[in-house]
Amino acid sequence: MRSIILRKNDRGEADELVTFFSRDCGWMTGIAKNSKKSRVRFGGNLEPYTIVDLNLRHRKRDDFVWIDDATILRAFTSIRLNVESFARASYFLEITSIFSPESSPDEILFDFMEDFLSQLDSSRLNPSLLMLQEIELLGLLGYSPTLNVCPICSKSFGVNEGGVFGLDSGGVCHASCSTNRIDQQLALSPDTLTLLRKASELEKSLRNRLRLNSKGQTELRKALSSFVRWLRGADIKSLRFMETMGMVYPLENENIF
Ligand SMILES: [Zn+2]
Repeated sequence: MRSIILRKNDRGEADELVTFFSRDCGWMTGIAKNSKKSRVRFGGNLEPYTIVDLNLRHRKRDDFVWIDDATILRAFTSIRLNVESFARASYFLEITSIFSPESSPDEILFDFMEDFLSQLDSSRLNPSLLMLQEIELLGLLGYSPTLNVCPICSKSFGVNEGGVFGLDSGGVCHASCSTNRIDQQLALSPDTLTLLRKASELEKSLRNRLRLNSKGQTELRKALSSFVRWLRGADIKSLRFMETMGMVYPLENENIF
C-alpha cells in the first residue's frame, strides 16, 4: 500500500510504532514487529518522509495494523540531509495529520504531498512558493482562506487597497470590517494581496516565478501561522520549531532559506 511515513517510535525492545499516510486508507498507525532487528524486512525503510509500499495485516485487538514489510519507492534523501527541508516536510505533514481525519483516504491530498516532498527534495526552497502551497494545502483540507472578496461585507478590494487577515472570518477582510483582537491585526499590504490574486489565477507550474518582498513574506507568514493555530486551537510543534530556528521569516538574503 503506497504510503508516506510520518514518524516512528520505539515500542519495546524490538518493535516500532509507525504513523503513516496511505493513499488508499488515509492516516494509520502500524506496528513493525522486530523492525529494530530485522534488516531483511525493514532495513531502514521506515524513515520519515519516505514513500514506501507497505504490506499490512489487520489486528483484531485494536485500531493498529501489522506492518509485515516495507519497500522504498522514493527515498527523498536530500530532505533528510537538510534541516530546513526536513522542517518544511514535517510542518506540511503535521498540518495534514491534524486536519484530516484518521482512516479517511484522500488521493488528491496524497498526490499533493508526494509532489511537495519531491519538490523539497530536488529544488531550492522558495519561501513565497511554500506559502502559496500552504494555502493550497489548507484548501485541500477544507480550510481555504478567502482572498478575493472580504468575507464580512462581500465586497472586493481596490487595486491599491490592503487588508487584514481575519481569523474568525477565515480570509482577508477590509481593515474596517476586521473583528481581530487588537493584538492580532495581521495586516496584508496591497502588494501582497495583488500577488495572492495573481497566484490564484496562474497555472500551478508558473507560481514559482512569484516572489513576495521581505515585508510581504513576513506579513503573510504571520497571517498563516496565526490562522493554522487558530484553526487548531493550540500550538503546532513543527511550526514552533521553525520559528525557534529562525526559518520562517525572511533572512537578510531572502534566497537563503
Ligand atoms: Zn469588508
